[in-house]
Amino acid sequence: MIPLKSSQDLEMLGKAGKILGEVLRRSGKLVRAGLSTGELDQLIEKMILESGALPAFKDYKGFPASACISVNEEIVHGIPGLRIINDGDIVSLDIGVNYQGYFSDSALTVAVGKVDQETIRLIEVTRLSLNEGIKQARVGNHLTDISHTIQVFAEKEGFSVVRQFVGHGIGRALHEEPEVPNFGPAGCGPLLKHGMVLAIEPMINLGGWEAKITDNGWTVITKDGLPSAHFEHTVAITDKGPVILSK
Ligand code: MG
Ligand code: MG
Repeated sequence: MIPLKSSQDLEMLGKAGKILGEVLRRSGKLVRAGLSTGELDQLIEKMILESGALPAFKDYKGFPASACISVNEEIVHGIPGLRIINDGDIVSLDIGVNYQGYFSDSALTVAVGKVDQETIRLIEVTRLSLNEGIKQARVGNHLTDISHTIQVFAEKEGFSVVRQFVGHGIGRALHEEPEVPNFGPAGCGPLLKHGMVLAIEPMINLGGWEAKITDNGWTVITKDGLPSAHFEHTVAITDKGPVILSK
């Protein structure tokens, strides 16, 4: 069952999203060479708490930090720690907040200093693939119209789409039904209805799509060691079209 949100729910999810949008925007500006991912996580956690929300990822299934910080070949679920951010790195920040029992989830990837052109293009294509996917989050479309659009957009630019991890419904819980893949044929899955809220989150690789989980049990990296980018928004499907809640 995909939960349909009431107008009151959508209002609260809008508040959670607004907080997150601001935290993520400010977090992106903090990323710099010389900072450790652990230090960055501390700053992010402080911002979340000061904004009146709770870090939704902290202790989620045992995750030890407030943000997922994934560098270069790390796709998602990077655990903040001693890793120092270097000039030339790309850094994906994935943050979730819980505001009065309503969840929002969003991610972005930033380039640090001098990053090669192909990797810059990967970041831009991933960001645009999310925008294209969001345009398909319309009443009357099928769920996988979002998935298919993201895949076609990323692949025509020569990149590949991660298969093992997908987006998700979100609302009173961080992860709800349905799963939202970033690949697959159009026209499948449930019909989209007013009141559905989805976290749409393309993870796009410079090289092959294959991924593996590292020894820490969390961090997902590309099998070929090439960089990966990640963008995510929490999006409400409404009669008036898609509304990006985490803006
Ligand atoms: Mg996320
Ligand atoms: Mg998510």
